[in-house]
Amino acid sequence: MSKEKAATEKKQILVGDGTWFVQQPSGESYLVGNKCKVCKKTFFPKRGVCPNCQKDGTLEDVRLSTKGKLGVFAVPQVAAVGFKAPYIIGYVDLPEVTGIFSPIVGFEPREDAIKKGTEVELQIGKIAEDEQGNDIIGYQFGPVKGKKGK
Ligand SMILES: [Zn+2]
Repeated sequence: MSKEKAATEKKQILVGDGTWFVQQPSGESYLVGNKCKVCKKTFFPKRGVCPNCQKDGTLEDVRLSTKGKLGVFAVPQVAAVGFKAPYIIGYVDLPEVTGIFSPIVGFEPREDAIKKGTEVELQIGKIAEDEQGNDIIGYQFGPVKGKKGK
């Protein structure tokens, strides 16, 4: 939690309107995707209609695994709004869904500091600030707890 600004004027903005993840007071957090009952494919972010089956009512919410592997990533030297450059942005493959686009934290923001296939774990929390200084709460992936980031 950042204490740089008066907490009273800060708002928390939830990525995906709060429907993309669950953050429990106990600390347990996970992403919510949806899975097609017909073709068994899982999606994140959630889809309105399964792109394979194209029928209503085949999708149901599912809890996604919190650990996965880093896929292709980049280290932008110019920051997107709310981010501090350099930072890492990449695709994470979970057992259920591949290619989840996410900020990657807890590693040195250098191309040679991490590699494809590095194990990463979900973190829910502040990922950025918007132009008004509001906290943007969303998902990101970092080193697996109990392991050193390499
Ligand atoms: Zn389907």
